[in-house]
Amino acid sequence: MITINPIPAFSDNYIWHLQRNDEHWVVDPGDAAPVVDALGANKLAGILVTHHHFDHTGGVADLVARYQCPVFGPASIDCVSHPLENGDQFTLLDVGATVISVPGHTLDHIAIILREAGKYHLFCGDTLFAAGCGRLFEGTPEQMYSSLGKLAELPPDTRVYCAHEYTLANLKFASAAEPDNEAIRARVAAAEELRHQGRPTLPSSIQLEQDTNPFLRCGEAAVRRQAIQRGAAEDAGPVEIFATLRHWKDNF
Ligand code: ZN
Ligand code: FE
Repeated sequence: MITINPIPAFSDNYIWHLQRNDEHWVVDPGDAAPVVDALGANKLAGILVTHHHFDHTGGVADLVARYQCPVFGPASIDCVSHPLENGDQFTLLDVGATVISVPGHTLDHIAIILREAGKYHLFCGDTLFAAGCGRLFEGTPEQMYSSLGKLAELPPDTRVYCAHEYTLANLKFASAAEPDNEAIRARVAAAEELRHQGRPTLPSSIQLEQDTNPFLRCGEAAVRRQAIQRGAAEDAGPVEIFATLRHWKDNF
């Protein structure tokens, strides 16, 4: 069995640490020091990177120098030794991994899906967040909407490992985007309790995101209504609703 634990970094990043027996991998190490601390006497077998932002790559060079490990990620990143693109498959920790391209937050952004005995683990960087999604720094609303749609098609019990602890702030926005959603209300209470205990609110699941994430709910009448009040056309399609929500959230 793979165990997956967050290594907190900076103010709100999570570097996901994957382990099976004595094989250790990390995802998006923005900083090397907390990874070295978490590994102790263990060696790092490899690094996965989802996109080029510094808070996801800043620790890679130091970790490679220390452990001489391979780096799997987008070809756009200098220190990547194994470039990945849409549809690529490879094996780590004795399980199969599949790569999907998810442009929007950045153009080079990929998501990595591990399939372990019928269970899916999704590492989605800054594309899908708990109750939210990444900002559109490089891509268009069309690209991000389509990328999120690909992730939303994964099995409902897929575990979702996002790269930031943004859940409470995202839920505040989700509550405004869909004020009468009972599942959002329940999630606020659950997330507040976890944060109160100093615990991460992640991983999430695709089902929970389907039920509470406004960016996956652009077809819902209640979400449409709020987006139309914020400037979307009465007959707006889902991409325009999505773009309106994203713009509203940028200024929320
Ligand atoms: Zn980013
Ligand atoms: Fe980030």
